[in-house]
Amino acid sequence: RFIAFEGGEGTGKSTQARMLAETLRRRGIDAVLTREPGGTPGAEAIRSLLLDPPGEGWGASAEALLFAAARADHVARLIHPALERGQWVVCDRFVDSSRAYQGGAGGVGDDAVRALHAIGSGGLRPDLTVLIEVPPQTAAARLARRDAGRSDAIGGRDAGYHAQVAKSFRALAVGEPAAFRVVDGDAPVDEVHARVLEALATLLDE
Ligand code: C5P
Repeated sequence: RFIAFEGGEGTGKSTQARMLAETLRRRGIDAVLTREPGGTPGAEAIRSLLLDPPGEGWGASAEALLFAAARADHVARLIHPALERGQWVVCDRFVDSSRAYQGGAGGVGDDAVRALHAIGSGGLRPDLTVLIEVPPQTAAARLARRDAGRSDAIGGRDAGYHAQVAKSFRALAVGEPAAFRVVDGDAPVDEVHARVLEALATLLDE
């Protein structure tokens, strides 16, 4: 089984992905926790290029190509082999991040992002994608509490960009209800975790 977590920065998706992997393991399921961009040495190297870009930063289409390249390596070397072995894969972000960030907010377009995903990763889709949503003020307050020195975000983006990302995620979830489970992340982590388990009940009870 393949489960992806999506959402903007400060929504808590990384924490929820980790908690889900821990719960699955406690239930005796062999689960691999991974993230993108990253997850393999090649994809982590591309992550560094994305987070700390040389020169003036990447344009939207170069960014889309780099994310697609990182994902292709991650799928070929980690995700696909794990699924073949029968492991569960819990991934912090997947192609729907590219659809919302580069495709929607970056203006590259959904068709182009999907075409890159078809070329790079055979169009692999998660069995279910959990979209965690929080109000923008909650996300901003959480980000403000993070380590000041921590740099794990692509810079130079304004509130309008992030609002467009959230809108694009919402549009994807509304358009593809069978693929998405939308979870309200504006609650204590344990409560959100319970909501995630409930949202995934059909997969977990199989
Ligand atoms: O999920 P995480 O916060 O580690 O993502 C790292 C950075 O990459 C964030 O700034 C995120 O918004 C950005 N990102 C992006 N497009 C993607 C995936 C992540 O701009 N497709």
